[in-house]
Amino acid sequence: MAAVPCPRCKAAMDAAPLLAGLSYWRGPGIFTGTCPHCGEGLELRVSASRIELGYTYWAGSMHFEGMIDHSVAGLRRVDADGAIALVLDGVSYPIPAGD
Ligand SMILES: [Zn+2]
Repeated sequence: MAAVPCPRCKAAMDAAPLLAGLSYWRGPGIFTGTCPHCGEGLELRVSASRIELGYTYWAGSMHFEGMIDHSVAGLRRVDADGAIALVLDGVSYPIPAGD
């Protein structure tokens, strides 16, 4: 099972519960979630086999700055009809859209 270190408390977050708790933030095109250990809000970008933790900032529009790149083998992002799902280890996690 892949684990991703929390940038705040450094505890390892299992990828599955992390993915299950994510929402999609359409503006900057990133995912938001919460560390199950320290409760800190997380902002991250997901691409194939990769989770990038970082933060957003305002510069005329929302931008995302990646800080920590973490590889998660087999992770996939599926976009279909405006809905987003993340797939890992044969399990699909539908991601609710935020703003
Ligand atoms: Zn944490």
